[in-house]
Amino acid sequence: MDYSDLTKTYNALEATTKRLEKTEIISKLLRKTKESELKQVIYLLQGIVFPKWDERKTGMSSRLVLKAINSATGVSITKLEKEWVKKGDLGIVIEEQIQKSKQTSLFKKKLTIEKVFNNIRKLAELEGKGTVTKKIQYIIELLTSAENDEAKFIIRTIIEDLRIGVKVGVMKDSITLAFEKEQGQIENAYNLTNDFAEVALAAKNNKLSSLKMEIGKPINPMLAIRIESPEEAFNAVGVPALIEDKLDGFRLQIHKKGDEISLFTRRLENITNQFKEILPIIRSNVKLKNTILDSELVGYDPKTKKHLPFQNISQRIRRKYNISEVAEKLPVEIQVFDILNEEGKSLLNLDQEKRRKILEKSIKSEKTKITITKKLVTNSKKEMNEFYKRSLGEGNEGIMIKSLESKYVPGRRVGGWVKLKPIKETLDLVIIGADWGEGKRANWLASFTLACRDKNELLTIGKVGTGISEKDADITFDLLTKELKPLIKETDGKHVILKPKIILEIGYEEIQTSPTYKSGYALRFPKVVNLRKDLGFTDIDDLIKVEKIFKTQRK
Ligand code: AMP
Repeated sequence: MDYSDLTKTYNALEATTKRLEKTEIISKLLRKTKESELKQVIYLLQGIVFPKWDERKTGMSSRLVLKAINSATGVSITKLEKEWVKKGDLGIVIEEQIQKSKQTSLFKKKLTIEKVFNNIRKLAELEGKGTVTKKIQYIIELLTSAENDEAKFIIRTIIEDLRIGVKVGVMKDSITLAFEKEQGQIENAYNLTNDFAEVALAAKNNKLSSLKMEIGKPINPMLAIRIESPEEAFNAVGVPALIEDKLDGFRLQIHKKGDEISLFTRRLENITNQFKEILPIIRSNVKLKNTILDSELVGYDPKTKKHLPFQNISQRIRRKYNISEVAEKLPVEIQVFDILNEEGKSLLNLDQEKRRKILEKSIKSEKTKITITKKLVTNSKKEMNEFYKRSLGEGNEGIMIKSLESKYVPGRRVGGWVKLKPIKETLDLVIIGADWGEGKRANWLASFTLACRDKNELLTIGKVGTGISEKDADITFDLLTKELKPLIKETDGKHVILKPKIILEIGYEEIQTSPTYKSGYALRFPKVVNLRKDLGFTDIDDLIKVEKIFKTQRK
């Protein structure tokens, strides 16, 4: 397929914000794509050349890309940089420069998607000294053959910013429509593989049901629904139930294929490199040769060996440098709570109780290294309450309550697992800024900057956009926009600065420290609970209260 066929689709996608139209456009392209090119088309539509969980990244610094554009067009790097700032899109800059420069058509060859895909892939695969020149050469080769807007999309793909609005939901719908499948089939296939290229190919060949989990490829983790009391927990999962500590670390999916190990986060980022120190522990303490484990990685104090809140280790996840130094200062323990694969065999359809039994046989527990999460099987509310209190006392977030019969359902909150954690006090905060929305929210203010009080000063503490409805509710975007419009003091692009008057009652999951906001704190998952027209300036909650909640939230 010519690359220009794909760029036509890109343009059509860029021209609409409507999900249905996007779905139609993509499915039309998929239907006419040859089987041998389907995978490449699917990746390029998402602006990638590897599935998102792959360790390989295009990894081009903007400096290198600018250098390549400079070589291909002759325009100086300084000028390119200036234009980039002005236009805010390097893709448009290159498009304009190519149109201006009268290149000889001598070296031009019509670009195919295969050529573009392979050249961009090579950028990630080249490593080590002397590869910079080669990488630049691969980009130049594409740019000198690019027609019209092709260069724009090539550059956007290289810098991983395609800007055509194809998100996961649109991809799922498009594959469903293109190959006349049921939505649930595509959903399941995607949850297992996290690779739309695999899913589309299987859908085209009517082989969706033969897609299997593969050790080394992450699957979407099962999620839990929040409940408010032990009673509700038993109602949701039945009796007796499996209760476990809800640890305050982060989700870690461990894939072990012999001695080869990969580690993935809940969002399926590959973090094997960041946590190299736990690989030997997994090799020596996991008794199975091949397996997939579901776990929480929890930080602990190297002196006291006590668990620490997630905040302490969060900086380790995306760290690129000094990894081993930080690993020593911020050590982690693996707390395993589930097993999804035993020697190549999927355990997803096995009951929770049976999976837990297999897990218990498969791990040699060793404190501060790898342990199986503490559990209790009970039908007594009293025992659940005692377990809950003890768990909170040990610094955990709360408890997980799991149905003994529950299968492992990837990527979904289906009710087989529920979570119980303390309800946080709400905060009354004032709106001091807002952003105009996009798409169908274009005429409304849709995201609101919140502040708390420090005596007479207002300090930002976060932004909120959830808990507000589009229609038929007490708090709608329309209502808030009407209230706030007369309070606009200044406009800066899509952002407006507001006179502080409207106070919102805000719920949240947790208060975290933050370098971004002036208060030094941020709210995790903030949600509007109420519009408090009854409150005035002195009722806005102050920094002292925020600090107090922050300090006591896990006691
Ligand atoms: P939440 O982040 O509040 O939606 O809670 C779900 C998260 O709790 C999971 O994604 C895990 O990272 C974490 N978690 C901690 N302990 C457990 C456990 N015993 N079972 C399942 N998830 C757990």
